[in-house]
Amino acid sequence: MPRLAVIDNEKLKQMSDKLHIQSLCPVNRRGSDCMYFEGEKLLIDEILCIGCGICVKAAPHAISIINLPDEDKNPPIHQYGKNGFRVFNLPFVEENKIVGILGKNGIGKSTVISVLAGLLEANFGNLEKTYDSKEEYFNELFANYKGTVLQQYFTSLQKQDIKVAFKPQQIIQIPQKFKGSVISLLKNIEKDVTKIEERAKSLNINQILERDISHLSGGELQRVALCACLLKESANFFVLDEVTNYLDVYERLNSAQIIKDVVGDKSALVVEHDLVILDFLIDNIHLMYGKSGVYGKLTNIKNARLGVNEYLEGYSKDENVQFRDKPITFHKDSVLDEQVRDTYVKWSNEVVQRGEFSVEIKEGHISKGEIIGIIGRNALGKSTFMNHVNEVGLEDKVISYKEQLIKRTDDLVLSVLGSLNNYSDPFFKLYILDPLKIDELEEKQVDQLSGGELQRFAIAKCLLEDAHVFLLDEPTAFLDVEDRLVIAKVIRNFVELREKACFVIDHDLIFMDYISHRLMVFDGQPSIKGVAHSPTGMRDGMNHFLREVDITFRREEHSKRPRINKKGSVKDNEQKKAGEYYYS
Ligand code: SF4
Repeated sequence: MPRLAVIDNEKLKQMSDKLHIQSLCPVNRRGSDCMYFEGEKLLIDEILCIGCGICVKAAPHAISIINLPDEDKNPPIHQYGKNGFRVFNLPFVEENKIVGILGKNGIGKSTVISVLAGLLEANFGNLEKTYDSKEEYFNELFANYKGTVLQQYFTSLQKQDIKVAFKPQQIIQIPQKFKGSVISLLKNIEKDVTKIEERAKSLNINQILERDISHLSGGELQRVALCACLLKESANFFVLDEVTNYLDVYERLNSAQIIKDVVGDKSALVVEHDLVILDFLIDNIHLMYGKSGVYGKLTNIKNARLGVNEYLEGYSKDENVQFRDKPITFHKDSVLDEQVRDTYVKWSNEVVQRGEFSVEIKEGHISKGEIIGIIGRNALGKSTFMNHVNEVGLEDKVISYKEQLIKRTDDLVLSVLGSLNNYSDPFFKLYILDPLKIDELEEKQVDQLSGGELQRFAIAKCLLEDAHVFLLDEPTAFLDVEDRLVIAKVIRNFVELREKACFVIDHDLIFMDYISHRLMVFDGQPSIKGVAHSPTGMRDGMNHFLREVDITFRREEHSKRPRINKKGSVKDNEQKKAGEYYYS
């Protein structure tokens, strides 16, 4: 049985701990060097290891031993260091098709698309291997994929018949790599200013072309990065690594439609965690499963609808692999908890002015144990409302605030969270720290966390504060489908059990549907004047918001998950006529 032994030496700080773990290994005790040292690094010989799991029990946070099924004899596509993270299989590129990849964070989705795009040289698990030339690398690829579709793909890539346009996941790093205006960045890809303006207009960034890259919001940066990718006229293969972070629902759908139009009869590969948008975009799908930081494996390609359903069920039929204990389920009518509760805090009608921009806030109230979801297009003042509440307060209540853009410092996660009183309270351990897997992050510096890890840390920090009212601005950004569900449960349990009040801004409608008791809808004219309506019931709120953005949803028959209706379709027209945009 092929065996993977993965050790994170960063998490085994003391030499005495490593020596102790080594002394427990039964193979070592019999005189063989199954666990051995290279310098100060503790390593495992995977051939000698018998998979007893004793070392894992001693250091579960740092060591993983995985026994793969016998048929998984193929070497990995790529391995990061000795006893390091490994990724298996590459996705298919299909002509005239958009293929999606769906899986949790930390299992190598970015690795496989980078190898396919030619941005990362695969080492096939041979850590000594270096390539002296591109030709040598391609010969290695041909040897590994002889007679397969991937051999044809890499032959075309080498001949430059396939030209790749890539949209990276980490858009926040763009201002560090590129200085100057948006137009100057886009001119590096397309010289024709008219073409730039046309594409920019379709993505609604034409008014910021002269703005410096360093002054863009997350949503603007995302659309500039997408614009740059889609402007590459010579490209016939588009690789898009997470396209919806920081975008509102309207922008998500608009971007998805533009991607479809531009890809046309070419090919694309998309990694995305917003299930509604992924489902709308793709023709076929690979699921990816594994253990974060240990290994990741792609399934065969599947039909999009069936593939998403299999993912939700946590079971891949073709491979006979169960990758989650419990299915992710949806209910047709969702929460719809419209019980009348006592008022905890109220606010009055008010206008908040920020330069030329204003938000008219209509009076409302929130109750103990209640979550008010805040939805609306970007630039209508949702974050301004939260900032304002944080600055001026709500009556005499103490407020805790997780901002949209999380500050990165060089502090250790443990020193930040450990300084909060509630950190050692068993309730917080059980309901917040454990489900958010904070123990995995404690020894890391905040500025070294990945996007998803940073989000988990920031949510934990916000909920650990001694406060009455909690404000969470875009808690799902950079989280995968599973973690979105986990944080939804964490926030709901915490607010209900501790009788707190909570406002949440987010653009993932499935998440908002799950988490909110009532909705506060923002409308108006983006960047000019926003109106924050009084909180209302879920059905009214969803209908109000979706009418604004002109989108209706139906339910997938099997899983009951919401799917976007094609504009102008019979269902779309029927639902609009009935005024039922979401809970149809
Ligand atoms: Fe040794 Fe058992 Fe750990 Fe393998 S699983 S390294 S045999 S202790």
